[in-house]
Amino acid sequence: MENDLNATEEKKYFMAKMRKFDFVSLLREHGAIQSGHFLLPNGFHTQTYIQPSVLLQYPHLARRIAGELCSLFPDEVNVVLAPSAGSIVIAQEVAREKGARSIYTDRINGVMLLRRDFRINEGERVLIADDVLNSGRLCSEAMMLVRGYGARTTGIAAIVDRSTGDPGFHVPIRSLLSYPLQLFYAASCPLCEQNIPLTVPGLGRLPDNFR
Ligand SMILES: [Zn+2]
Repeated sequence: MENDLNATEEKKYFMAKMRKFDFVSLLREHGAIQSGHFLLPNGFHTQTYIQPSVLLQYPHLARRIAGELCSLFPDEVNVVLAPSAGSIVIAQEVAREKGARSIYTDRINGVMLLRRDFRINEGERVLIADDVLNSGRLCSEAMMLVRGYGARTTGIAAIVDRSTGDPGFHVPIRSLLSYPLQLFYAASCPLCEQNIPLTVPGLGRLPDNFR
């Protein structure tokens, strides 16, 4: 049934959820949505930056956000998997709500894997919890990891979905906020043209010659 929801229905569902839980206001109140001129790790520039970690540093908000995400994924899962450091907190809270295990990935020599004696058992149902879904690369790697253990990814719960197209995961991707990322090439960036100082999200202003 989950897979049958088309985009319009999913949007309606999302809007209904939003009326009860004003996530955007919460982000704004905490300065977790920033407008400016940001350099992304992939080299592109963008105007809006959303950082859910600003909210997740407050355990009561992390729990509330997790509760909202869990309501989007009512089915039982065995494991909640965080594909990045920024997702560990939300995965932990989602797992608490669902009565599941919470684990996270590490990276060795560029390869995503499980360490710390974490394991996924064959046939287990795994929900991937992500703070911000961008290109989907991390979730894609995490899904491969899950498959490698003979388990199944049942969905991707992202606090914020910034993907710009269908990443082709063939599992439900649900979020509290869908806000597609607008990317500018450094060479043709309108924000560069306006001489707006370029910053690295979470780090602050860069030297003027950093272009
Ligand atoms: Zn720029």
